Amino acid sequence: MWSILYRRVLFTSKNKLLRNLTTDVPRVRFAPSPTGYLHLGGLRTALYNYLFAKSRGGVFILRIEDTDQSRKVEGSIQALIEDLDWSGIECNEGPNRGGKYGPYVQSERLHIYQQYIQKLLDNGSAYKCFCTERRLNILKRDAIRHQRIPRYDNKCRSLSDDVIKEKMGAGIPYCIRFKLSSDCQAFEDMVFGGIAYDVSMNEGDPVLMKSDGFPTYHFANVVDDHLMGITHVLRGVEWQISTTKHLLIYRAFGWSPPQFGHLPLIVNADGTKLSKRQSDVRVDDYRKKGIYPLALVNYITLSGGGFDHVAGEGVRLKTLDELAAEFQTQKISSHPSRLNPNLLEECNRLEIKRQLKDENLTKELVGKLQGLIKERFYDQNLHISETHIRSVLFWATSRITRVEDLVSNKFAFLWVLPHNKTEIDSQLFGKLIQNLEDLEDFKEDSIKANLREFSLTNKIKFPALMKMLRSVLSGLSEGPGVAEMMQLLGKRQSLDRIKAVLR
Ligand code: GLU
Repeated sequence: MWSILYRRVLFTSKNKLLRNLTTDVPRVRFAPSPTGYLHLGGLRTALYNYLFAKSRGGVFILRIEDTDQSRKVEGSIQALIEDLDWSGIECNEGPNRGGKYGPYVQSERLHIYQQYIQKLLDNGSAYKCFCTERRLNILKRDAIRHQRIPRYDNKCRSLSDDVIKEKMGAGIPYCIRFKLSSDCQAFEDMVFGGIAYDVSMNEGDPVLMKSDGFPTYHFANVVDDHLMGITHVLRGVEWQISTTKHLLIYRAFGWSPPQFGHLPLIVNADGTKLSKRQSDVRVDDYRKKGIYPLALVNYITLSGGGFDHVAGEGVRLKTLDELAAEFQTQKISSHPSRLNPNLLEECNRLEIKRQLKDENLTKELVGKLQGLIKERFYDQNLHISETHIRSVLFWATSRITRVEDLVSNKFAFLWVLPHNKTEIDSQLFGKLIQNLEDLEDFKEDSIKANLREFSLTNKIKFPALMKMLRSVLSGLSEGPGVAEMMQLLGKRQSLDRIKAVLR
């Protein structure tokens, strides 16, 4: 066996060798451009690539595509890595991880692109273009005036060697363009099925290398996917139109391309486009709002498809391992994925419930809530017991979607005395206090029975009594049941609140 492997290694070129060694192990990548913050669409692409790799024992790579330096946003690479970490999406190779196919940041790979562009120049698939910005603008304006699609007219394709030498000698700047051919490269999209598109119908020869020595997205993307041994490309559908162009570049190099699958657009519930400016789509904003990573991840999978989800079955929160085990690319729908914000709330609720089943996570929740209470009621010297905080958390799971909700006005009564203007009959309430003091078993059911009896003996209508008590205890006109609230506040606190209005 070794001798066979040895011989194969010996007779294959270096690039082929990379591929042979990796054919069994899928290698996928998330290749964001550092032009802003990670938003839902980017997270979905990263997640699906990660799950794809995880489900097949493959490798998930993070590659930063920063060849367009003018669009680069300071700090966005670090923020992106933090957002991925927070989401639980771990990469096996990447700028923060290293790996033997690095560097994983395109601006650190310029020497590699120079080497590969030379191959395309040598084999006649690419050529130097000396056209000035001015000429290109004139072409564009002309096309628009005549209602044609603006495209480069491929003028420099036919420059003679002498002319090229002369222009180079004169130091005229040039870019390098790819000779597009009109034979349409069809491919089988893992999500959309058969796709065929003749790029040359709508585009002139595309630039591969800019005059400043930076590659364009198309060129660097193909070179890197090949050199990094990428076997499957799962990316947003907005890139589908570029894939046939990429396939032509693969062919020009004599490389076999990876398999491509394009993920449909994520849209709002009403089918309208998500806007990146809408703060709602930034992963970072979800985190700040108190959404948990597993909730966000499940939310995406619920609208994005790729899983067995039986309609009407209700939401079940799945771990990343479970999601990976269930993930199937053929289940991804090619229709736009509609978000349903109610599902996000449900997922977050389920996540809080899940955390409360684990003692360590419960401690973290308690700590978080303590912090929130301190922050919200900073001007009050509160001493709230951990036991109270715990029981509130367990009680609240079906009432809140985020832990932050527990410090909203609706639930402030749990921590601080309500502002009270309730008019009460002090004689009646004096009796009530005595009655409740005597109640040993201060639990919802017995409290309720006690109050009912009290209303009968004192000839006060039960709903009227409840209304008064609710207001005294919480300062609210609606909310949780009075007996329930009393159990939650405890005997001491409930009675103190009633006594407070008597004074
Ligand atoms: N840099 C591209 C982006 O920002 C990557 C597209 C691809 O995955 O090929 O989406």
